[in-house]
Amino acid sequence: MHEFSAACSIVDTALEAAISNGASRVSAVNVEVGEFTFLIPEQLIFNFEIASRNSILEGAELRIKKVTGRLLCNDCGFEGESNLDPDIPNQIAVFAPMKCGKCGSSSTKITGGRDFVITSIEAEVAESFVD
Ligand SMILES: [Zn+2]
Repeated sequence: MHEFSAACSIVDTALEAAISNGASRVSAVNVEVGEFTFLIPEQLIFNFEIASRNSILEGAELRIKKVTGRLLCNDCGFEGESNLDPDIPNQIAVFAPMKCGKCGSSSTKITGGRDFVITSIEAEVAESFVD
């Protein structure tokens, strides 16, 4: 249910932003999803559709941009992209140690790509009744 709780959180945040901006309908939500969230985009979209039902977000498109994860190695000091094995499915990779891209050490600290953030929402603002 990882994706469902993430989707609910995206819906809550987007709803708040939309309502405070006087939106009547949201057409798209743009999110940046870090590699180390291990969220599966298709599942996230599916759950977003469920979580947004009966709200002004219903029918909005969830646009996901993937952000590469970053690591800091405790052994060699390298900081940069991880070298996750692309063949390992997300469900397993989430439990695998993050290996340094330079020396292969598993003694690493995640410094980026662990979050998901809403970068923007595209909404229709209710027309004012000024003649
Ligand atoms: Zn290293």
